[in-house]
Amino acid sequence: MPNQNFKFATKAIHAGCQPDELTGAVMPPIYQTSTFAQEEPGVHKGYEYARASNPTRSVLEDNIAALENAQYGLAFASGMAAIDCVMKLLKPGDEVISTNDLYGGSYRLFTKVYATYGIKFHFACMQDFDAIDDLINDKTKMIWVETPTNPMLNIIDIELAAMMAHKNDLLLVVDNTFASPYLQNPIDLGADIVMHSATKYLGGHSDVMLGALVTDDEEIAQQLYFHQNASGAIAAPNDAWLVLRGIKTLHLRMQRHCENALEIAHFLRGHSAVEKVYWPGFEDHPNHEVAAKQMLRGFGGMISFTLKLDEYEAIKKVLKALDVFSIAESLGGVESLIGHPASMSHAALTKEERLANGISDALLRMSVGIEDVQDLKADLENALSLV
Ligand SMILES: *Cc1c(COP(=O)(O)O)cnc(C)c1O
Repeated sequence: MPNQNFKFATKAIHAGCQPDELTGAVMPPIYQTSTFAQEEPGVHKGYEYARASNPTRSVLEDNIAALENAQYGLAFASGMAAIDCVMKLLKPGDEVISTNDLYGGSYRLFTKVYATYGIKFHFACMQDFDAIDDLINDKTKMIWVETPTNPMLNIIDIELAAMMAHKNDLLLVVDNTFASPYLQNPIDLGADIVMHSATKYLGGHSDVMLGALVTDDEEIAQQLYFHQNASGAIAAPNDAWLVLRGIKTLHLRMQRHCENALEIAHFLRGHSAVEKVYWPGFEDHPNHEVAAKQMLRGFGGMISFTLKLDEYEAIKKVLKALDVFSIAESLGGVESLIGHPASMSHAALTKEERLANGISDALLRMSVGIEDVQDLKADLENALSLV
């Protein structure tokens, strides 16, 4: 593992990777094997059975840990599998406090799966730390934070959340998917566990699903490793390799995502067909100062906005008129995507739950890709002329 003091781009390309000892291969081989021969029972080269560990996965786990300035990394079959592993640290009777505009899949796992196992979830507006204080009792074990939030792009102060958690002996977990380790490093701000859907920016090419957990605490790492191996939702070696390849350009892609999003956020804000733009880079965004403090190198590639339309059929027409943007779930790939949270990513919520969190039927969410920004703007201009 190279020097932890290397700067981000160097770590992205080299951390965890060493030329293969056997052949000198510069890129880590894909170890497509389920088991590893032992010289005699119990005497092996550190690998026994590939559910417990696989060398290709190990390289990725070390790489992601290094990007988050932590010692321990774990890779899973998907982001949800990673979240599921964190939930296994809890037991019936425990309580969790989480953000109210949470990724729909996390909300479903919490309320439809773990709630039935006797874990209680509170969903709170994390801009108001007094309200969180009121929810904490002796059963509370964890604070689960996502920032920027999805899809409203609210910002939660990770440092404050960590202080609140540690004062009460709770774990702070941060879903860092939207920011990526290039823009935000929650471990440095006091988080105990960082979670990534590497399906998004880390993989970066919309061609693989994978999840990751990172921690700097050996005891937490041991518990997570136990559950990863016990439950078995591990990342496959091919998928680990694809994400490793994606990460080598993470810094370059994120720079362009941020530049393009900045330009498009301002373009949308100046457009007569647009009602409101949600983007933490605006100085009048309610949490802009926190974003500027904890997002190190930019405000990310995600923008949400509402049109001056409330008829679903009319909104659908605008979306279908887009040519470069694809109508799709997901985010973080090189290509630009746009979605309608009310009918897509957040369809699992009731209309009341959606509206309570600001997710109106007129809300659109885009993942700004790294295409030429002039083409993206022209595509939007063309579709918005229908409003
Ligand atoms: C996509 C996503 C997840 C879930 O990850 P998968 O890889 O789809 O399982 C969790 N959190 C956030 C913020 C996401 O965007």
